[in-house]
Amino acid sequence: MTVALSTRVLKPEKAAIDAAARCLREGGLVAFPTETVYGLGADATNGEAVARLYAAKGRPSFNPLIAHVPDIAAARALAVFNAPADRLAAAFWPGPLTLVLPRRAGCPVSDLATAGLDTIALRVPSHPVAQDILRALGRPVVAPSANRSGHVSPTDAAHVLADLDGRIDLIVDGGPAAIGMESTIVACLPDPVMLRPGGVSREAIEAVLGISLPATTRPEANESAPLAPGMLASHYAPRAQLRLNAAEVRAGEALLAFGPDALPGAQAEAMRNLAPRGDVLEAAANLFSHLRALDASGARAIAVMPIPYESLGEAINDRLARAAAPR
Ligand code: AMP
Ligand code: MG
Repeated sequence: MTVALSTRVLKPEKAAIDAAARCLREGGLVAFPTETVYGLGADATNGEAVARLYAAKGRPSFNPLIAHVPDIAAARALAVFNAPADRLAAAFWPGPLTLVLPRRAGCPVSDLATAGLDTIALRVPSHPVAQDILRALGRPVVAPSANRSGHVSPTDAAHVLADLDGRIDLIVDGGPAAIGMESTIVACLPDPVMLRPGGVSREAIEAVLGISLPATTRPEANESAPLAPGMLASHYAPRAQLRLNAAEVRAGEALLAFGPDALPGAQAEAMRNLAPRGDVLEAAANLFSHLRALDASGARAIAVMPIPYESLGEAINDRLARAAAPR
């Protein structure tokens, strides 16, 4: 599934920045330093590039990713800021703070990058190499840590190469990452809540907001647990009931196809095909947008054809199972 690439490693000169931007624009994967850890970047607006990123990391599940932008103006184009978000952005950007905010209508970030949620995580990194790449590209970049799933976050280019050689296109070697700790994540939906501790301290955030933040109740290891009841949707959940591994369409159902366009049984209320030729990468890129479209059709349920478990199929099946869980 994942094509063997030869991974280039370049010093952070102008030519490397240009190569990184070109590669990202064409849907490639580029590791670069940020002030937290080395990130593995993909064009956030390109669903197939984001799918390739998951495949390269070998992630068994699609978690929403952080979109990196060069400045507050670029962030405002993607999300709706309220007063606490404005204050936090002014105080800590660029820097190791991620804000989770409502997605703006028309936000071009792919549904796969936000895992189908109506919210988006945004960060403005301060590292000069990250800044140069984001400005040269002119598009938001998702950049989770540049390691294989389950391995430790890389703080220098050699770590990245050891984990991802042959799986990504380019590494921009900007020396060791300075903080070596992930960004602090604060949601403002609308009240500020800390979702993950990190490079900016709770005290610093509370000082800027002039309030004390509620205690974080979500154990970071268990991302499916809600932060606090009703506060934050932790994964995409359609209104319609999902019926997995369907072998037929029943009355009133829409069809989420994979491969062939139809199943025996009733006429589907609506149909979307994740991957007519059976390509799981394409299926991953289409997953959330197709689910949303079928949900919007008003069908009472969505029959989902079996998806193979190979490669990204595991993560697709994981998200489908969560979306199908009774609520
Ligand atoms: P990282 O591993 O540093 O790329 O950070 C990804 C983290 O951001 C994950 O733990 C996600 O759960 C969190 N995250 C990203 N987007 C959202 C969102 N829309 N809502 C809540 N958490 C998010
Ligand atoms: Mg990581």
